[in-house]
Amino acid sequence: MPPPSPPEHFHGYLSHSPTTPLTYAPYTPKPFTPTDIEINITHCGICGTDLHTLRSGWGPNTTTYPCIVGHEIIGIVTRIGSSIPTYPNTTPLRIGDRVGIGAQTLSCLQPSCEECVAGKENYCPRITGTYNSRYWDNETGKRSDVIAYGGFARKWRGPAAFAFRIPERLESEVAAPLLCAGTTVFAPLRKYLGDGADSGKGKTVAVVGIGGLGHLGIMFAKALGCERVIGISRSNGKREDAVKGLGADEFIATGEEKGWEKKWSRTVDLILCTVDGDDMPLGKYLRLLKAGGTFVLVGAPEKPLPRMRAFELIGKGVNVTGSNIGSREDIRCMLEVAAEKGVRPWVETRRMEEINETLRDMEAGRARFSRGNRIPRRRDAGISISYWTIGLYIVKSTLLLIASALFAASIYMDLGQIVALVKGDSWHHPGRLDDQDVRCRRCARLLDASVG
Ligand SMILES: [Zn+2]
Ligand SMILES: [Zn+2]
Repeated sequence: MPPPSPPEHFHGYLSHSPTTPLTYAPYTPKPFTPTDIEINITHCGICGTDLHTLRSGWGPNTTTYPCIVGHEIIGIVTRIGSSIPTYPNTTPLRIGDRVGIGAQTLSCLQPSCEECVAGKENYCPRITGTYNSRYWDNETGKRSDVIAYGGFARKWRGPAAFAFRIPERLESEVAAPLLCAGTTVFAPLRKYLGDGADSGKGKTVAVVGIGGLGHLGIMFAKALGCERVIGISRSNGKREDAVKGLGADEFIATGEEKGWEKKWSRTVDLILCTVDGDDMPLGKYLRLLKAGGTFVLVGAPEKPLPRMRAFELIGKGVNVTGSNIGSREDIRCMLEVAAEKGVRPWVETRRMEEINETLRDMEAGRARFSRGNRIPRRRDAGISISYWTIGLYIVKSTLLLIASALFAASIYMDLGQIVALVKGDSWHHPGRLDDQDVRCRRCARLLDASVG
């Protein structure tokens, strides 16, 4: 009988409780299967979901520890299973490809699943989140014991079916936040405006909330050729960012302009609402819609939505709906549009070793988001894989932006205010360690002292 193979370990930033810092330590990834790939992670965005998950923010036991968060992952493929699926109209993944993984790592992909067959994998009832989730086992029809781990790590291993090749024109630090935040706003734009380079032609889109999600909403709406894009915020503090920085055509400060709902009544085809808040003036937002217009929520307020009067719905036959991340096709289209039209999230990057400090900054609202923090149009598109970086892209909004994804095993929420994107020059402990090694060969520091 052959000796049992030694356990495999990856290294990453593990969270062991809602209150303790992340510790760099080894962990056991999912078993490698023929449909999996492995990547060396070069970048990972920080999403508000990460914060909520780390502190088990949706109530006791909503997070299973230890966990590794991070679901805006970029990395280089280093290993490919023997029978990975090929998505229609794409070339098979190869070693060395640069790929991204978003908030979803798998769906059931079964012919019996209406959602998967229809290409709505993000609504599959057997969805697997990229972290704090257990893989679904189609054979047993149950959740397995195999845990999904996210991107605050050196490597990621998981299904190739939900890994997306990153277009060359998108630098890794820019691509990272697109995978969750970008997808979340792009999917409803694509759904309600339709496909095509100028699907927004003749349409007016309003984006409520100029934060992590909202700033991407404005940029994508412009990229899709919308006739008019209106940024909506409570104060005029975001006006310049929205109009001059992001290209919005109009701006409404709901807290400072009297009668704005009358002035803009029946002018908008689609409202993308990225904000949280049970006190949002939902009825007034609906007044902005044209007859048959659509209000789509991509946030998930923790409190119930405001009460509505029936006439606000029936008076113009408007639609009030929601949207959860995006399908695989949404993600592919979104990356293409971002690359072709130059949609570039405003980001700040930091080194991954600063993860605890960065998370603390975000929790404390010390988030910075300004035009000055945008990554300049340059960049070493081919970032060395020994550069191990995590970026931080932060939005200084007073509104709480929330994008949520309700997965079978857990709830994910994005605080759009603080999306993090990352880029650092070199991780302090560059990728020269093998996975069993717990000391940095450069500084000899014990990396996982907390568990050692
Ligand atoms: Zn399914
Ligand atoms: Zn997210």
